[in-house]
Amino acid sequence: MGFGERYHRTLEEVAACARKAGRDPREVRVVAVSKTVGIDEIETAVAAGAHDFGENRPDALAEKRGHLPEQTWHFIGNIQSRRIPDIVRDAALVHSLYQERHVHRFEAAAAAAGKVQDVLLEVNVSGEHSKSGLAPADVARMLIACEPCDHVRVRGLMTMAPQGDLAAARACFEELARLRDEVRRGLEPGRAALFDELSMGMSEDWREGVAAGATIVRIGRALFDDAFENGSHSD
Ligand SMILES: *Cc1c(COP(=O)(O)O)cnc(C)c1O
Repeated sequence: MGFGERYHRTLEEVAACARKAGRDPREVRVVAVSKTVGIDEIETAVAAGAHDFGENRPDALAEKRGHLPEQTWHFIGNIQSRRIPDIVRDAALVHSLYQERHVHRFEAAAAAAGKVQDVLLEVNVSGEHSKSGLAPADVARMLIACEPCDHVRVRGLMTMAPQGDLAAARACFEELARLRDEVRRGLEPGRAALFDELSMGMSEDWREGVAAGATIVRIGRALFDDAFENGSHSD
């Protein structure tokens, strides 16, 4: 099976999962995480209809976007201060902002680039030490830090679930959705309407993400890796 078949099968399954959860399938966007593949494979993906791609390194993001500027590029990786202007140049949506000291750098870089940078706040819902992200209790304070920044627009929340336990992943995603709703209730209506995204779910656990309200799933291996299906997934 090639990318195209995997992609379209995934889209159909995402839609089915959304409907099963009583959701409109159009609420869920599939970001194809292309961090492990080259331009050729991304071109194949574009030809198959994919248009949102996720990268976790600024250099690869710049190179790939340089080849395919009309696609929508997501930055999903660790943020280094000095790379923030590059990330701002190339990313339509940054999924992984969690350090308060980076906020003013995003503001300055976005102002200089003449854009408003859409960002998600990464939350470490599970509290695992290996994971980065804000503690849930710190999200409100982070939003206050972003408030004065006219060129940074916080669109929602992102998380990564514990691996290897789908019930724990589901609980983690439900907690992120609950947190989004709670935060939203504290925002004025104009801001609340924009604070709507939940980026949660990867190759192994996107079904749990969609069931819990994901508006974005970030899928890498299940789309790009021929071996994924036979290897680690079953349902
Ligand atoms: C690599 C990566 C993904 C995709 O992971 P897969 O398991 O290959 O689907 C999603 N989100 C982030 C933040 C990643 O780094």
